[in-house]
Amino acid sequence: MPELPEVESLAAFLRDHAAGHAMARADAASFSVLKTFDPPLTSLNGQVITGVGRYGKFLDIATDQGLHLIMHLARAGWLRWREELPSAPPKPGKSPLAFRLALDDGSGFDLTEQGTHKRLAVYLVRDPAEVPGVSTLGPDPLAADFTVETLAGLLSGRRTQVKGVLRDQRIIAGIGNAYSDEVLHAAKMSPFRLASSLDDADVAALHAVIVGTLESAIERSDGLGAADLKAEKKAGMAVHGRTGEKCPVCGDVIREVSFADSSLQYCPTCQTGGKPLADRRMSRLLK
Ligand SMILES: [Zn+2]
Repeated sequence: MPELPEVESLAAFLRDHAAGHAMARADAASFSVLKTFDPPLTSLNGQVITGVGRYGKFLDIATDQGLHLIMHLARAGWLRWREELPSAPPKPGKSPLAFRLALDDGSGFDLTEQGTHKRLAVYLVRDPAEVPGVSTLGPDPLAADFTVETLAGLLSGRRTQVKGVLRDQRIIAGIGNAYSDEVLHAAKMSPFRLASSLDDADVAALHAVIVGTLESAIERSDGLGAADLKAEKKAGMAVHGRTGEKCPVCGDVIREVSFADSSLQYCPTCQTGGKPLADRRMSRLLK
């Protein structure tokens, strides 16, 4: 899933390639992808892209007529830039194509989504705050006012696991399953630690790795085309998605904990005093 660094890089890519262009047409390839009906997608025709921004993991294309085309790529979605789009509009069907935006010079992009759970969402609104997932976002961790004190306030009194807090878009915007694994590994912190148990030094250290991890991920993907971002994200991960591999810091074997619809990865030596965390799926298999 694209998280804050990838969405930030996609926004920068679109600022370079699409800003200043008029839109020729926008098509939703499936009934479920477009979450709004007023204004209609056809109202974009001829409108000029004036800016491309990001809210958490949402991408925002702003037009000269005050509209915002807001996109959330969900877990299996991606943006594929094309110098020359096919001229025929997309046909609904089983292809991964979810949405297509064509510009006045024939270029544009496809939003694609793999898998059977279709969660990719597109909204056309007059105000980004009309999008429910945008209006409820917590502070952006790369904003200037996201200070150690801000983070302390967000964590204080929260008797929930720090992994869940980092992933909760209503608490902090833009961090998902992958970068929360990376942040906790860099902070040498157990994903199961309660947020309320962090002292001042823990919070300051966590703040530094949140900002550092996200900024270095953006730096690595700077200048990469949309096509290469996914590979770069994967290559930059120390523990996420690397179960069974060696921790790049200490050499211990990276382990995972499975949940109903996701899993987390961590290094026992770096993060949990050498003790593996309980994994319900593993204990079920061993019975
Ligand atoms: Zn380690």
